[in-house]
Amino acid sequence: MNLILLGPPGAGKGTQAKRLQDRHGIAQISTGDMLRAEVAGGTPIGREAKAVMEAGQLVSDDIIVRMLASRVGQPDCAKGFILDGFPRTVPQAQALDVMLEAKALRLHAVIELKVDDSALVDRIAGRFTCGSCGEGYHDSFKPTAKAGVCDACGGTTFTRRADDNRETVSARLAAYHSQTAPILPHYAAQGILHTVDGMADIDVVAGQIDAVLARVG
Ligand code: AMP
Repeated sequence: MNLILLGPPGAGKGTQAKRLQDRHGIAQISTGDMLRAEVAGGTPIGREAKAVMEAGQLVSDDIIVRMLASRVGQPDCAKGFILDGFPRTVPQAQALDVMLEAKALRLHAVIELKVDDSALVDRIAGRFTCGSCGEGYHDSFKPTAKAGVCDACGGTTFTRRADDNRETVSARLAAYHSQTAPILPHYAAQGILHTVDGMADIDVVAGQIDAVLARVG
């Protein structure tokens, strides 16, 4: 099954994509994670993307589309993939249509996680991740059970994203509304857009997504 999770930063796309990956064996493809790996590796793409990401703006369509094209052909995508953070512009959505057609693949569903803007800054500003297993946490909404120790793997090192600060979040939200939200009609016209309430609890949102998948699968 091939899915897109769409929604503003902090809507819960990464959290839900990880759960879908674990439960359905389909690959999570996060262009943000791919870019952060390029930045950490000091590659040419990483050097070009770093300042743009830190400003909360979007990396060029050209770079992103090339990066994604090589990713969807990898073996872990054999059972399908969940796109998390892509597409983010209308040209990216159009490039994806062409890419999927060339590979004789189809999109089963585009799931929009709808969240009030006012909730997003607090959600994003408190995020942190286990440096060993990648489990996501939040200072207020999902702290570790034991301070400083990952519930999932017992790891004791944690990371915070450079762009998860109050100043950058407003630029990221503005980019979402002006450049990403215009994709929604593209998928509504294809009859594959499903909207779920991203304000609900993580488990409730996961249940809503499963209900969508049961209908389209
Ligand atoms: P994310 O982890 O999805 O929140 O992405 C973090 C940052 O990476 C974004 O704020 C953008 O600067 C960049 N980025 C990730 N995915 C894309 C994309 N599909 N198009 C353009 N920029 C992206």
